[in-house]
Amino acid sequence: MERYGRRLKLVDDEVLDIEERGGRVTLGLVNGGRIEADCAVLAVGNLPPHDPPAVADGRLPARIYVGDPWATPFEEGLAPGAPVLVIGTGLTALDVILRLVSHGFDGPIVAMSRRGLRPHRHVENLPRPKPVLAKPAPELSALVRWARRAARTTDWRLVVDSLRPITQMMWASADGPKRARFLRHLRPFWDVHRHRLAPSVADRIDALVASGQLCFEPGKIAKVSATESGAAVEWRPRGSDELKILHVARMINCTGPQGDLLRSSDPLVRRMLAARRIRPNALRLGLDIDREGHVIDGHGRASEHILAIGPMTRGDHWEVVAVPDIRVQVSALARRLVNAHWIAGEEL
Ligand SMILES: Cc1cc2nc3c(=O)[nH]c(=O)nc-3n(C[C@H](O)[C@H](O)[C@H](O)COP(=O)(O)OP(=O)(O)OC[C@H]3O[C@@H](n4cnc5c(N)ncnc54)[C@H](O)[C@@H]3O)c2cc1C
Repeated sequence: MERYGRRLKLVDDEVLDIEERGGRVTLGLVNGGRIEADCAVLAVGNLPPHDPPAVADGRLPARIYVGDPWATPFEEGLAPGAPVLVIGTGLTALDVILRLVSHGFDGPIVAMSRRGLRPHRHVENLPRPKPVLAKPAPELSALVRWARRAARTTDWRLVVDSLRPITQMMWASADGPKRARFLRHLRPFWDVHRHRLAPSVADRIDALVASGQLCFEPGKIAKVSATESGAAVEWRPRGSDELKILHVARMINCTGPQGDLLRSSDPLVRRMLAARRIRPNALRLGLDIDREGHVIDGHGRASEHILAIGPMTRGDHWEVVAVPDIRVQVSALARRLVNAHWIAGEEL
């Protein structure tokens, strides 16, 4: 345990359970210890990715299939020239590709996702986005039309960035079906326009594509099976019924952090779900919480003493993954906890 002054202790342990009793909480730790507190804030970050169903069914050995690239040295043990499949084409995939190459990997890499979209690039020296003064129309189709119109007269990045200060507010005012429609139809496009690449990183990815070492494929994996040298991946290109086969030495799951608590193997999440102390958000984006961040239990009641912040509250805030947004959320929560929220906020 590390102490910072009289008020902050850092405990190196894992919380396995949080129980609420008698107006207080008790945290059960993996080593058997317990911590009592007035309240607990779940700030557990992102949960590891889950295996795409077709891949989970294939039960591939760990030397062939890497389920969580953040927890595994995925570049180790690859023979020169061995083909690799990266599942996903977002920021995690690009990070993984660059790490492979920076370790001297010279084999072909296929990055596959349903649409094959990859993050766009930032451009340097853009002016600051102008704030959106009139809230865009609430209908998603109208919002897309608004963005396209606005992008005719300025760089599209400024249009996307101008929405950032009001994204949480727009999410909050959208009902469940609209949020679900956004996730189904717009999310992949939003993600690649919103979460962009530094120009130097985009240049490195473009150079890998130009050299032929890397290609992006829109498609869906239908089945995987182990072979002597790795895995045979049956997949369908987007918009086609044709089944293709790709032979790879390694597959790396880059589908990103998961939000569906029901598919999580995290011990704390599983235990709290089983005890009905938390419940999943309706859109399977982390925890269900109330407007002030109290977790909602399995009976639909807001907890008084267990709160949540960060990516696990994405279902309620959407734009709460990047550190600047989490900082604002943390500041508001801290002020509420010390009952100082009614005093004017300091600039963050
Ligand atoms: C590939 C990638 C790139 C990113 N790039 C950026 C970026 O450029 N800019 C940006 O702003 N954001 C970026 N993000 C997002 C950002 O890193 C995360 O959203 C942010 O770190 C979340 O902060 P957090 O404090 O909520 O969780 P984390 O930083 O994940 O911290 C969670 C902590 O909780 C601990 N913990 C979890 N469960 C338990 C338990 N049961 N008991 C005890 N401790 C536990 C973990 O060990 C960890 O210390 C990126 C994320 C990824 C995956």
